[in-house]
Amino acid sequence: MNIILIGPPGAGKGTQAKRLVTERGMVQLSTGDMLREARDSGTEMGQRVAEVMSRGALVTDEIVIGLIAEKLDSLGAAGAIFDGFPRTLAQADALEALLQGRGAPIDHVIEMRVDDEALVARISGRFSCGSCGEVYHDTTRPTRTEGICDVCGSTEFLRRADDNEDSLRARLMAYYKQTSPLLGYYHAKGQLSVVDGMGEMDAVAGDVAAVLDR
Ligand code: AMP
Repeated sequence: MNIILIGPPGAGKGTQAKRLVTERGMVQLSTGDMLREARDSGTEMGQRVAEVMSRGALVTDEIVIGLIAEKLDSLGAAGAIFDGFPRTLAQADALEALLQGRGAPIDHVIEMRVDDEALVARISGRFSCGSCGEVYHDTTRPTRTEGICDVCGSTEFLRRADDNEDSLRARLMAYYKQTSPLLGYYHAKGQLSVVDGMGEMDAVAGDVAAVLDR
């Protein structure tokens, strides 16, 4: 099964994707993670995209489509969770062509709907484990023991450079201008389901599971 998670920054796409990886053995394909990896490892492409990402703008379609095509080649039979991709109609078309070649279409597109006001609070307190990637929040989901990851025990944590108010405003604008038209497109194709992303993490996970098991 292949699914797409769509929602503004801070909607909880990454958190829900990680649960599906654990609970259903699916593979998370996050273009944001792939781009951060390229940026941090200092590849030529990583250096080119670093400034675009820090502004909160979208990286070119060509680059992200190339990254996804490469990952799909090595995916095997596991189902994919597309997290943060596609973000433009051109990326949606490219994904469809890539999946057609593999004979494995998209089964569900899930929109995670959240209030814009909640996003600033969610994003500004967000941090993650530098080792296993578990996502935490200063007030709503701190680690059980301060400074130690609940999942893997690491003491290294990361805060994203683009998780600040200016970048968030640009990322939200990019979402409404370039990505939200995809919702109409997938609705017209009969693939779109909407999940309330404002609830507790477990409740949201339950709603996502209900869509997948339909
Ligand atoms: P994310 O981790 O999904 O919030 O992505 C972080 C940043 O990476 C975004 O603000 C964009 O600059 C870039 N990015 C991630 N995915 C894409 C995509 N599918 N298309 C264009 N840019 C992307």
